[in-house]
Amino acid sequence: MAERVLVTGGAGYIGSHACKALAGAGYIPVTFDNFVTGWREAVQFGPMEEGDLRDRARLEEVMRKHEPVAVMHFAALSNVGEASRDPGLYWDNNVIGSLRLVEAMAACKIPNLVFSSTCATYGEHDGVMLDESCPQLPLNAYGASKRAVEDLIVNFAAAPDVDLNYVFFRYFNVAGADPEAEIGEFHRPETHLIPLALDAVRGRRDKLTIFGQDYPTPDGTCVRDYVHVTDLIAAHVLGLEHLRAGKGSDVFNLGTGRGFSVREVVEAVAKVTQEPVPAEDGPRRAGDCAALVSGSVKAADELGWAPDHSSLDEMISTAWAWHQRPGYKA
Ligand code: UDP
Repeated sequence: MAERVLVTGGAGYIGSHACKALAGAGYIPVTFDNFVTGWREAVQFGPMEEGDLRDRARLEEVMRKHEPVAVMHFAALSNVGEASRDPGLYWDNNVIGSLRLVEAMAACKIPNLVFSSTCATYGEHDGVMLDESCPQLPLNAYGASKRAVEDLIVNFAAAPDVDLNYVFFRYFNVAGADPEAEIGEFHRPETHLIPLALDAVRGRRDKLTIFGQDYPTPDGTCVRDYVHVTDLIAAHVLGLEHLRAGKGSDVFNLGTGRGFSVREVVEAVAKVTQEPVPAEDGPRRAGDCAALVSGSVKAADELGWAPDHSSLDEMISTAWAWHQRPGYKA
């Protein structure tokens, strides 16, 4: 019988891609989602259990019902602007929710946890390429909430009576969509660069605003390291296998090591769509670092991860196909 993996946030952008990949790898992905930012239509690859992470009794009920061999924990609020305006929301949802999840895992004796963390936990390091040993000095409440969750998981894993092993993946900028366009990136409101640029091309919004032109980067706009969601999720399956092989807890950056400026991304969107991207220069966005680029090859070396689909062209063209599919709603 196929083994089950509990996927918190399985109805979200990254979580739904994880469910598809887990199903492809022979697991049954069980989505646990409160549908605040997730989409019921995205749950296509296994059972769906509605619930909120802060409801420990509900979590334990679902864990006892499905007896998962592992948890992949994606459920979180992830909007930096919102986090800066309302930090309590992020500490409550992301940190308290994760605490309840880990308590429930300990109570139900589920020993493997793959956690979706972020390069936002590092903060600004003056353009240094970031590896896993960089100090974590987050600039905003989103990054702070993710760092706090890492800390609490480490504490539980060290507790003598808890059998818990974890893999943390610190994501850089996730982009692209399922190559079959069954699922893709969809946020309401949308705040991410590539989907916003595609919306501007399609006339679903007037124009894209480029946030800040005076950063200490080659063209003055922010530089980010973009990774295809398909590659990102492939690492999660490798991380799960790493844990199940008893190789122990670990932390991995997931980025390609190549940075692109906002202007370079906008140019690539114009090239892929063969349409101009209506765009205007605007002020900096609060909480943004000038550059976030991974300087680590640890995931490649230790997990055998190869981000083969993370060219800008492939990320934008799969996202574009998803945006153009019939029934796309914005
Ligand atoms: N960005 C922008 N205009 C937008 C949205 C984003 O110029 O409407 C910039 C943003 O300042 C950042 C980069 O695009 O430098 C990527 O932002 P996104 O929100 O996609 O991801 P983040 O880096 O915040 O995780």
